[in-house]
Amino acid sequence: MYYVIARNLEVWGLLTANSGILQLLAGYVQGKWRGIDDPYTIADGYTWLLQVPAVKVTWYKVVWNRYNLPKWSFIMWLRQHHRLLTLDRLRKMGMDVPSLCFICGLDTEDHDHLFSQCWFAKQCYHLAANWLHVSVDVLSSCGKLLKHRCSMFIRQVCMAAVVGISYGIWRCRNLCRLEGYVTHPSKLVAQVQQDCRRRVSGIFSGSMNRTDKDWCRSVGLI
Ligand SMILES: [Zn+2]
Repeated sequence: MYYVIARNLEVWGLLTANSGILQLLAGYVQGKWRGIDDPYTIADGYTWLLQVPAVKVTWYKVVWNRYNLPKWSFIMWLRQHHRLLTLDRLRKMGMDVPSLCFICGLDTEDHDHLFSQCWFAKQCYHLAANWLHVSVDVLSSCGKLLKHRCSMFIRQVCMAAVVGISYGIWRCRNLCRLEGYVTHPSKLVAQVQQDCRRRVSGIFSGSMNRTDKDWCRSVGLI
């Protein structure tokens, strides 16, 4: 059966003989992955394909948090892997592009500058910290955010806000590049707040405890 699927995919020109899917098909033998004794799992398949054990990261809880919008998660995932096409990466690829940050024009645009060091990012975190009643320090680090002492619900909403701000910064950067103007940080944070409110009201089910409910009222989520 797998041979038939592989042949059809080749016929349709969708895959080459060296593609990842064909390699996965070749590695799947009698309900197991070659060299792995345990029953089939997708994770084992990728481990077999990569030939190295996957490195476990903690930030996946921030990236794939249930209160994130999917587009936020995708940009955050690229950010965590340093895969967004920032100017430093484009220059390394040989493209003739400027090097200075589109938003502030003061430093080289790379992931660290754009999402952490730029005045625009700092201002967004500052406004979000005031809104969510947490410190800027906590919002600026995935590690500190995950260890922040509060209920899981509050932590998840804070994580969603951080991911939403990352998306907003990337969007503002692109708007600045294309349209030549910088959105005010307060507008970005207000949009994230509005999206978080919709997300919480659309997803949260069950009864909320008193502490979470009071916090939600104080940050304008209900
Ligand atoms: Zn900047």
